[in-house]
Amino acid sequence: MASRRKKPKFQAPTGMHDILPEDQPYFQKIYDVVERVADFYNFQKIEVPMVEESELFSKGIGLATDIIGKEMYILRTKGGECLALRPEFTAGICRAYIEHGFFNLPQPLKLFTYGPLFRYERPQAGRFRQFHQFDFEIFGEKKPVIDAQVIQVLYNILQELKIKNIIIEINSIGDSQCRPYYKKLLVSYLRSRENALCSDCRRRMRENPLRVLDCKEEKCQRIISEAPQIINHLCGECHDHFKEVLEFLDEMDLPYHLNPYLVRGLDYYTRTVFEIVEESEEGKRLGSLGGGGRFDPLVKLLGGRDTPACGMAGGVERIVALLKIKNTKLSSRSQPRIFLAQIGQLPKRRALKLFDRFRKANIRVAESFSRDSLKAQLRIADKIGVDYTIILGQKEALEGTVIIRDMKTGKQDTVKLEKIITEIKKRLKK
Ligand code: AMP
Repeated sequence: MASRRKKPKFQAPTGMHDILPEDQPYFQKIYDVVERVADFYNFQKIEVPMVEESELFSKGIGLATDIIGKEMYILRTKGGECLALRPEFTAGICRAYIEHGFFNLPQPLKLFTYGPLFRYERPQAGRFRQFHQFDFEIFGEKKPVIDAQVIQVLYNILQELKIKNIIIEINSIGDSQCRPYYKKLLVSYLRSRENALCSDCRRRMRENPLRVLDCKEEKCQRIISEAPQIINHLCGECHDHFKEVLEFLDEMDLPYHLNPYLVRGLDYYTRTVFEIVEESEEGKRLGSLGGGGRFDPLVKLLGGRDTPACGMAGGVERIVALLKIKNTKLSSRSQPRIFLAQIGQLPKRRALKLFDRFRKANIRVAESFSRDSLKAQLRIADKIGVDYTIILGQKEALEGTVIIRDMKTGKQDTVKLEKIITEIKKRLKK
């Protein structure tokens, strides 16, 4: 009978998880693709602290959003500062843009980053309290071609990762000229149906009415489907901007779906908002893999100059989950072809030094320095499947030689210690 493991006293905090060695290649693969695509599109890497003044987020993302209202991890430091674990990247990158005077650099300025984020959400499948995103932002340009390029970058990263069946959901949520008018229209419509809305939406209707539009509750969905759509109430400029973004997507043959109910969780968005979602074979929308949009007012709101900007973020855990389901082949590390065995104290000391010589020569070597018996070490060498084992015994250590054992034939030769790297290189080439 399988023995039941006792629950350990300490476990990872709720909604957080260890990224185990077996999962590292998936994360690495994503970051490799992200770095490659970023480099190609001329994005420069930036890293911002994991914590920022909590006001940066409440001001930027908006107090009435779930992320700020319910999901921020806030901590008070011994010095009395009120800091928050970053729930997203954009506000921190804008802060850095302002702080370092990046507006003096040639614009548009393209930045990217990746790393962990924290949101105190209810943990469920694909939703964690600590998760990872990659994030791309373009500052200093309001033209629609930038929106299209941001979308193209996220789409290309997913394509490079061989994720198929993805579709871009896109909408425009207008700007400070047209959105207030639309908000009024929406609120007056929602008021007329208030009793049929869920309790969350009744609250949202007062605090952040646009958020009602992406409520997943069935009873709210019926009401939403008849609500006025912002796309029909955009001002001339927003309308033309959005039309151009869509024309670029058409030109690039990127598959998109106009989703008038897509508003996204953060207050700072203007005009284009989008998500890239996975579609089932039957065309059903599965989870969102990433998303973004334009945030023209944010830099100014946070104390900088008026700087239009647009960006996106991809959810790394969601992508890892997909890669695993799809059984994506990952290139594994090359196996060492050499094993270094040692017998006795002096040989062990020499072996440690020799091991480092191999590292400098860029030749991978396996070892089991904690073992003393040659038999046990040869067994391990055999299991790994190396071509040669280098044996350092007491006699060899004193004479300044080593034995090379050909693992296929069992033939052994003695070589001078200083010649070993050249000799191994020669044999590996054959
Ligand atoms: P957002 O920053 O909310 O626009 O999210 C961008 C992407 O990050 C989403 O499409 C998800 O793939 C991912 N994501 C957001 N929240 C979580 C979470 N709590 N756990 C895991 N992934 C998340």
